[in-house]
Order: sequence, then C-alpha cells, then structure tokens
Amino acid sequence: MTYDLTGKRIWVAGHRGMVGGAVVRRLASEECEVITAGRDVVDLTDQKAVHAWMAQTRPDAIVMAAAKVGGILANNSNPVDFLYDNLVIETNIAHAAHENDVGRFLFLGSSCIYPKLAPQPIPEDSLLTGPLEPTNEWYAIAKIAGIRLCQAYRKQYGRDWISAMPTNLYGPGDNYDLQSSHVLPALLRKFHEAKQTGAKEVVVWGSGTPLREFLHCDDLADALVFLLKEYSGYEHVNVGSGVEVTIRELAETIAKVVGYDARLTFDATKPDGTPRKLMDSSRLHGMGWNRGRSLEEGIADAYRHFLRAEGVAA
Ligand code: GDP
Repeated sequence: MTYDLTGKRIWVAGHRGMVGGAVVRRLASEECEVITAGRDVVDLTDQKAVHAWMAQTRPDAIVMAAAKVGGILANNSNPVDFLYDNLVIETNIAHAAHENDVGRFLFLGSSCIYPKLAPQPIPEDSLLTGPLEPTNEWYAIAKIAGIRLCQAYRKQYGRDWISAMPTNLYGPGDNYDLQSSHVLPALLRKFHEAKQTGAKEVVVWGSGTPLREFLHCDDLADALVFLLKEYSGYEHVNVGSGVEVTIRELAETIAKVVGYDARLTFDATKPDGTPRKLMDSSRLHGMGWNRGRSLEEGIADAYRHFLRAEGVAA
C-alpha cells in the first residue's frame, strides 16, 4: 500500500456533485475523517478564500472533484464557464494545497482530454498527440492543465499528487436537465416522461451511431479510493468500464429499464460529437482494480434514485 487512509483528514472538494457525493459515500467505509465545505463556507473560485480556508483546515489529502461540468450543448454554448471556472478552481486548490503541505492530492479529469481521433481504446499516452473534439475543448483544456499542474508539483516539489481520468459517468446526483445534461440522464428523463405521457416517440440527438463508454459514479468512487491507497506515479490513470455501446443501444437499454417502448427519432440538427470514446483502462485493471456493475444494473440504480428525487416511489 502506498498511502494508508487510517486517521487521515480527507477533503472531498465538490462533495455536492455526483462524483464528490459518491466519493464521500465510499470513504464512509474507511477509517478516515471526511471533510466537506459548501459554497457558503468557501467559494472555490476565490483565491484568497481558498487559501484562508486551507490554512485553517489543513487536510492531509484532497480528492479534487469540484468542477464546472456539462454535456455537449452546455460546453458549446458557455465556453467561459467551462474554461475559466475550471482553471481557476483547480489552480486555487492546487496551490493552496501545496502551500499548506497537503501530501496527497487526487485530481479528476475526464475522457474528453484526449484527441478527437485518438487510437481506440484510448491509452493514457495519447494525451496531447492531436486536436481535441471542438464541442468540449474548453473543458478539456482546463482538465489537461490540471493534470499538468499535478505533474508540475510532483516534478518541482516532489509532491505525491496523482490524476485519474474517468470515462462518461452517471448515477445518483446526476444532472437531469435536458439542456445541460449528458446523454444518459437526458435519455432516462425522456423515456420516463414519455412513459408518463404515453408519447409515441423519444427524440435522440444526432445520428445514434457515436460510441460511448459509461461508468456508474459509485464504481468510479471505489476505483478512486483504490488509486488513493495504491497508486503513486507521474502519469494519470484512465478509469473506465471497458464496455462501449452506441447511443442507439444506450437508448434501447434505457427503454428496457424504464419499461417503455417508444419509437426513436434521431434529430440530425444536434451534434454527434466525437465518433468513439472508449478508454483503455488496462493500467488500472493491471494494478488490481476491475470491479464494476453492468450498464443495465447501473441504469436501474440511477433510475431508482431519479424516481426518488422526483418523488415517485420506485
Ligand atoms: P459527449 O460524450 O461529450 O459527446 O457528451 P454527451 O453525453 O452530451 O453526448 C453524447 C452523445 O449522445 C452525442 O452524440 C449526443 O448528440 C448524443 N445524444 C443523444 N441524445 C442526447 C440528449 O438528449 N442529450 C445529450 N446531451 N446528448 C444526446
């Protein structure tokens, strides 16, 4: 074991988000103290506030799950939010962590950091080997800077800071707003609403042919705790399920879970985004983590939480 969590004070930055929430749930079964701070306590875009809070709190380790996130349309329409907010949050936290001698830092990126036409499955070393997918490059550039930031502190100051790159995530606490969400929660809501209203069709953006890989956020959290304990290295580590489906197949699986069979209509006026995005997670699997539920099981769990949040008994 590289890092023993016993007795450590671990700050989960972004605990109100889907990933941060999952990490807090997962850390509850470790012998550590979990620290969280809402926006009312510390505004992560405010450099002075972050430094003051960190100096006062002095965590031993940080899981950096705070970020401005969104789907294809939100990224495309609000580039400043995705580039500026993410850059400022990660630089504030990283530098305050360094100044306060935080020994362990786990930075989280995303699979969109890789070039649009990266080899598939995408290995870690394809980072910065080609142009990015333009629809989400704002977010990607900020996340690439975050990876480099961890590496820079490791190189210059010997910090044992690491980065993990999750594939497309879903699960409890996801964003179900149809304008800003990712595809899985969007289609879950669309099928749910079609079932309620008896609509004959469900609109799927794009052609339905792009391939995507999905991971339940609780499986990600389990992998992150594994990395926190076991991994020390300069290179970032991919975290994926290893299973990919077309957007059409995803829609069909969601239809099955929701229990409603509607005709799929493909809206060609909406972008497809990158044609394929499967991570090569063999490094992580080689280290010994290869747990995770099936897509159907995962969607069923997400749907149960969605119904609960909507006030419908599952
Ligand atoms: P991406 O993985 O960064 O491209 O982001 P998304 O999860 O937003 O989109 C993935 C794919 O799903 C794209 O090809 C979208 O066009 C497609 N898609 C189909 N229906 C929807 C929908 O209702 N919402 C979103 N966000 N994407 C959709």
